[in-house]
Amino acid sequence: MTDLLLFGPPGAGKGTQAKFLIELLGIPQISTGDMMRAERKSGSELGRKFDEYMSAGKLVPDGLVLDLIEKRLTQEDAKNGAIFDGYPRTVAQAEALDQLLAKLGRRIDRVVSLEVPLEAIVGRVTGRRVCLECGQTYHVRYTPPPENGECISCGGTKIVQRSDDTEEVVRKRYEEYKAKTEPVLAHYEAKGVVKAVRGVGSLEEITERIKEAIGVE
Ligand SMILES: [Zn+2]
Repeated sequence: MTDLLLFGPPGAGKGTQAKFLIELLGIPQISTGDMMRAERKSGSELGRKFDEYMSAGKLVPDGLVLDLIEKRLTQEDAKNGAIFDGYPRTVAQAEALDQLLAKLGRRIDRVVSLEVPLEAIVGRVTGRRVCLECGQTYHVRYTPPPENGECISCGGTKIVQRSDDTEEVVRKRYEEYKAKTEPVLAHYEAKGVVKAVRGVGSLEEITERIKEAIGVE
């Protein structure tokens, strides 16, 4: 049983590494945003509660999100563990999650903290281009869009820079992360489960470091 938390500033590449870990470990990713949207669509009682908050543009209370996480963790494919990415974002959420996991006889076994300097994140994010048709991403330096302007995945020609992929937005998100989310790391450091992983280099290099940090071949 392994419950993992992927930690790091926005733009550190958590999502990309999470996809890889899902395959490697055979456990699902817990994405609270996706789960809330799905629950809303399902029309369940919990989904209707989410709807009340979300359609009013209000923040969904932590307790409700936790109910959803509990429901997800007790499903068959998540019984042996899960990968948390983007949650918990605050110390209060981390404490509540710890309690829930304890109730299920589980705990966060390992926190992988991806360390990427702000300057590197700025370079990654501002160089990002995305195909509006299919979501394929590119980077002007590392994986530039084809010269003929046609997307390699779908042949579409609308490859653009997203409006929030700017240096200003990146810096603002980073500040928020430093203030609110970084204390979550200290919370888990006190439990001795944090491993820092250098998040700079090729995708494969970073993946290898993560595998080492969680102790798998
Ligand atoms: Zn495309």
